[in-house]
Amino acid sequence: MAVARTSTNGKATKLEVRNPATGEVLGTLPVHGAEDVAAAVQRARRAFDVWGSLSFKERRAHLLDLRREIVRRMGAMIDTIHGENGKPRNDAATEVLLAVTHLTHAANRAERLLKPRSVSSGLLANQRARVSYEPLGVVGVIGPWNYPLYTPMGSIAYALAAGNSVVFKPSELTPLTARLLAECAEAAIPIPDLLQVVTGFGETGSHLAKAKLDKLAFTGSPATGRRVMAAAAENLTPVLMELGGKDAMIVAADADLERAAKGAVFGALGNSGQACVAIERVYVVQGVYEPFVGKVVEHAQRLTVGSEDRAHYGAMTMERQIDIVRDHVKDALAKGARAVLGGLDSFKGRFIDPIVLTDVTSDMKVMSEETFGPVLPIVKVASVDEAVRLANSTSYGLGSAIYGKHDVERTADRLRAGMTSINSVLAFAGITNLPFGGVGDSGFGRIHGDEGLLEFTRVKSTNYELFQVPGLSMVFQDPEEQLAQTKKMIKALYGGSILDDAAGLLQRITRR
Ligand code: NAD
Repeated sequence: MAVARTSTNGKATKLEVRNPATGEVLGTLPVHGAEDVAAAVQRARRAFDVWGSLSFKERRAHLLDLRREIVRRMGAMIDTIHGENGKPRNDAATEVLLAVTHLTHAANRAERLLKPRSVSSGLLANQRARVSYEPLGVVGVIGPWNYPLYTPMGSIAYALAAGNSVVFKPSELTPLTARLLAECAEAAIPIPDLLQVVTGFGETGSHLAKAKLDKLAFTGSPATGRRVMAAAAENLTPVLMELGGKDAMIVAADADLERAAKGAVFGALGNSGQACVAIERVYVVQGVYEPFVGKVVEHAQRLTVGSEDRAHYGAMTMERQIDIVRDHVKDALAKGARAVLGGLDSFKGRFIDPIVLTDVTSDMKVMSEETFGPVLPIVKVASVDEAVRLANSTSYGLGSAIYGKHDVERTADRLRAGMTSINSVLAFAGITNLPFGGVGDSGFGRIHGDEGLLEFTRVKSTNYELFQVPGLSMVFQDPEEQLAQTKKMIKALYGGSILDDAAGLLQRITRR
């Protein structure tokens, strides 16, 4: 929870961070203004001058030192995430594991992927050609609160490994995790200001979006994403957008129902449903619908909700989100949905017990807008084809899942989503080689994987003429002679293959 402390002119000057589960004040941080942000970007540029000129091996060694430092402070990191986000320590620890896994992958992969590579020079055989990937410079990262370490690390680790410096504006709800990460970088890497954190509310983010950056990686809601893009347009700053989702899961008739039910429960309720790739809709083929719903209820009702270490999921981090979740549930119930587990009595202060809805229809908010809470709506469909059509019917397209056996990969390919997990949920987020990102209102660009590294590079093409050849070198020649030569060359190279010519000749002979 974040509370603004304001000065006499009503401007927020301090940011008070509170534990969402207990209300305890965890820390007070400055609200950085436009000048602070601009100064941070300037310092980051100096850091880039040093970092960007290091070899891949040197950068890798530093990033692995950063990893060591995070692991050394793992306890503090887990407690900080647990404290300000409200998730149980188990979830916080998973986040640390995923974050250092991505950091390791980015550090190890950068050299092989990004070192200059020779390419064929094609027609211009007198040239050598090379593609190289240069770092961009200063990358701004704006992050959300639901995974305060793992999510921004998906941009930060890859941006650093590609040779950039970073200015990170974390969510106002979870800035302490970001500060701890920056402290780890300071302790581990002897390059000042390589990874800086600016703190504050949306306005601080807006200052960063308007700053002279070389790229801006934004993760948050589509509404804020639109504002961020507009602000970044002032400086023609390229943007990467990781936005919201309304992920669908499909259960085919030949699915392992026990596995699918457990997956749906984890995918929808894990992290209190506060995940951009949470399962927010399940389409189940008739015939297996009833047993599937039964299994989901059975597994969901066994979950423990709370702050303690034995809890399966924790508090709702943002108070406002609780109202949105309640509104979606109320709207669904008013339009005829049935709560087969929980309901409006599931709302218990900052915690929401699992809610499973059936008899839901497309006109309900819970089926088209991002709910971001522990609610699992289940729909009966006639066929997998109908499920695909409905799954593809929202404006979002982030993750998705399908459980089944027959033709399941072909069905996965028909889903309009950046990622699809077959016979599991969310696993793509932990597979470091898989790019992560969405389509439609879920954003564009990719973090993680090779594409995640390439996002933070500028492609440079270089050619090197080894010797001058008339007709191939970029110098004037006799125009008439060149015209004749070029025509000959077009004919010889592209005027049809030898086989085409032979077939044509044969046709002409047989026609005679
Ligand atoms: P949000 O859009 O409210 O805020 C995100 C960040 O933007 C915060 O740091 C906030 O301070 C900042 N911000 C707010 N107004 C701004 C402005 N005008 N200019 C610049 N920055 C501004 O999102 P949230 O509530 O923190 O996070 C939840 C959303 O994030 C959900 O929609 C969720 O699906 C999405 N999300 C997406 C991914 C992904 O990878 N696709 C991952 C996690 C969360």
